[in-house]
Amino acid sequence: MPLKVNEIFYSIQGESSYAGFPCVFVRLAGCNLRCSWCDTGYAREEGAPMDIWTVIERVKSYGCRLVEITGGEPLLQEETTELIRRLLDEELQVLLETNGSMDVSAVDRRCVKVVDVKCPSSGESGRNDFRNLERLTKKDEIKFVVGDRADYEYACEVLPLIRERCPGSTVLFSPLSGRMEPRRLAGWVLEDRLFVRLQLQIHRVLWPEKSRGV
Ligand code: SF4
Repeated sequence: MPLKVNEIFYSIQGESSYAGFPCVFVRLAGCNLRCSWCDTGYAREEGAPMDIWTVIERVKSYGCRLVEITGGEPLLQEETTELIRRLLDEELQVLLETNGSMDVSAVDRRCVKVVDVKCPSSGESGRNDFRNLERLTKKDEIKFVVGDRADYEYACEVLPLIRERCPGSTVLFSPLSGRMEPRRLAGWVLEDRLFVRLQLQIHRVLWPEKSRGV
């Protein structure tokens, strides 16, 4: 079966520990969640069929060694794990952005998984699959998008579980664009002595006017 692809583009990685690196993005179509603040709603429906080899050729055409598979929710499509494996076999470094509701255990361990934990303001925190925390390795990352104080407190409550089930993984706190003042979140992190990585979405700083292809 071909993959349903929303867009493939080359940009600067805006999030995770890889922020700042040039990266090819493969945005797959479809999502099983409806986050209240979703900024890629267009990817939930729109997409065209593309076979795996065409996707790989498009990715390689940019001559960039870093590629991210994102969505939507990429793990909704069965072929995604095969795409990831083949990209890794091409000696590319592969990141996967996933919304935290899907089982990640079928994903090749060479891939760096960036797994969301949805906070209450998303309206989807009931969909977090915390069993994923046991399926991650130290090189994987766990991301909270924080929209308000209640989200922050929720993230703080989940942190001990992460430290217990997935010690050594990087935890990212990302202020929700337009809703959470980054400086405010930084203040809370420092005040509470949290060892988490505050991340700003670099692509939004670089291209604030663009809503797609960044
Ligand atoms: S998981 Fe991602 S793509 Fe799906 S609704 Fe939430 S923010 Fe949007």
